[in-house]
Parts: sequence; structure tokens; C-alpha cells
Amino acid sequence: MKAAIDWKAFPKIELHEHLDGSLRIDTILELAKKDGVRLPTAERKELEFLLSPLESDLVTYLKAFAVTTAVMQNAEALKRVAFEMVEDWYADGVVYGEVRFAPELHTQKGLSRSAAVEAVLDGLSEGRRRYPVETGLILCTMRHLEPSLETAVLVNQYRNDGVLAFDIAGAEEGFPPSLHRAAYEYCAKHSLSTTCHAGEVTGPDYIREALEACGSLRIGHGTQLIQEWGASRVPPGTGSLTGLVRDRQIPLELCLSSNVQTRACRSLAEHPFPEFLKAGLAVTLNTDNRLMSATSLSRELQLAQETWNLPAESLRRVEQNALAAAFCPPDVKSRIRAKHFS
Ligand SMILES: [Zn+2]
Repeated sequence: MKAAIDWKAFPKIELHEHLDGSLRIDTILELAKKDGVRLPTAERKELEFLLSPLESDLVTYLKAFAVTTAVMQNAEALKRVAFEMVEDWYADGVVYGEVRFAPELHTQKGLSRSAAVEAVLDGLSEGRRRYPVETGLILCTMRHLEPSLETAVLVNQYRNDGVLAFDIAGAEEGFPPSLHRAAYEYCAKHSLSTTCHAGEVTGPDYIREALEACGSLRIGHGTQLIQEWGASRVPPGTGSLTGLVRDRQIPLELCLSSNVQTRACRSLAEHPFPEFLKAGLAVTLNTDNRLMSATSLSRELQLAQETWNLPAESLRRVEQNALAAAFCPPDVKSRIRAKHFS
């Protein structure tokens, strides 16, 4: 019998996690009490059930974020949540994590977008002081809202303080990446890194737009690239979008549990992760939202290993892919590589 893998001890790289999707339930309850925020329920179990639906769809799933963002409307709360994220990463064996959030969702009580960014950076930096975890911050804009250019400007403003990249998030349908072309052009002009939620539930067209119209360096999800493979699920070659993603080694930020929960995939067994891996795509595994999906990065790796009976070595390569795709400076990458992957 093969020895069980200690997933917590397995060095892991998180590239796709939302700050407002990964809070602790107890923190939500405490912050709500402290700041006088009304929650749908003050009962812990009920709240957990409400925020972590077993099955949903992307639009319903996103409604839970109204609850979490309601308790993240001041600098102190944002700093605490960011700090706890690093603490939770450390407990789970994540050695490098990139977290993302949309500053415009945290201005309901008068906090400025800049102050929101600074509070999160403070929390991450406090986390790094206490725990041996490297961190980075990605700023995203909700794709149905206006201020994407302003968010890109914020990325530029805080580029030397730990803000690494720009992203667009939220319900995809009807909001193609090209709507935010101006923001992506600004990022290109200022040599800022970018990623883009695309192909989570919509077809490969959005992935193509993210790459070709927006020049995104990574793809958030990209799961629906599989639609291009047709019923036979055979990867199309050079000249196809899959060929482009493979030849340019565009990192795909895949999130297994989240995709099943939002019905981006009918079941975990049908998730294209193993096929993408076999076809030589630059796949990475991520949590998306630890709270909403009741998961951790250790659990996601374990699910992948058990579902497809993968050798630990394959998952180690996935984590090395993720480190290569990280937006942090090369000296940070070298340090992590030397410490955890050599
Ligand atoms: Zn996401």
C-alpha cells in the first residue's frame, strides 16, 4: 500500500483566491457584532450553510459575497481579514499566496479605494512578519461595474508595495473581457501584469478575448476551453485556441470545487483538469473561495490526486507551474524554489 501523502506538508502555491470569499465564519460574526452589521442569521451553523452552498450557479454563488463584503467596510476589518488569510495559508502549508479583491466593493461606508488597498497590504505585511509565507495582492474590478480603469491605475500606484496585477471578476455572462480593454491597455502601457476571469462558465470566446483583445498573461479558470475539444475530448492542435494556450504556456488558474459548485462542471470526475495536464497546458490548482467552497488548497490537491489517481510527482509539477506563473519578482520566486522545490 502506498503511503498517504501529507497534503499539509506538501509545499503549495495559491494563485487564485478571493479575499471576500475566504473569511472565517467566526470573524464574520465578530466583525458584524463589533460594527453593527445585520447578517441574515447570527447562528453560526446557519450562516455557514448559507455561505457555503453545496451546489449553486455562478450568479447565486456570488450573492454570498454581499454578506462577506458587508463586514469588510473599514480598514481595521480589511486588515484583520488579510492577516488571517496569511495565518490560514500557513496552517495549510501554502508557501506563496496571491489574494485578490475589488477595492470598489469596500467603499459603502466612506472608505476610499486607496485606503482599502492599504489596509489589505498592511494585513498581508503583518502576516508575512509573523509567518514564513510570501504574499502578493491582485486588484480586481467587478466586470459589470464601471471603474476598471481606476482599478488599473491603483495597481500602478501600489506596484512597489505588494500589488502585483490586475484582474476582472464577477458574473461573466454578457460582460466579455473586451469591455475592459481600456484598463488592460493601460496595464500593458505601464508594464503591469494581468489576469482575467474567463471561460469559467462562458465558452472559449471569452478566453480568446482575454488573450487577444486584452493581452492577459494568465486566465482565471479557463475551464470551458474544453468546449473546443468537442465530444471526443481530443485536444486540437496548433492554430486552435487550445494550441495557443499550450504553445504560449498561458497559465490556467483552475479551481475544482468551485467549478463543481457553480455547475461550471457537472461533476468533479468530468472536470477537464487531468486532460489539460496531459495535453501539456500550464495548469495550476487553486481554491477560488475557501469559505464558499468549504475547502483548502490541501483539499483541492488531495481531491485531484484521489479522483484521477495521480502520482504525487504530477502535483508537485503543478505546484512548480504555479510558482513559475506567479506574479512576484524573480528573487522571491528563486527564494521559494530553493527553499521548497529543490
Ligand atoms: Zn475567481
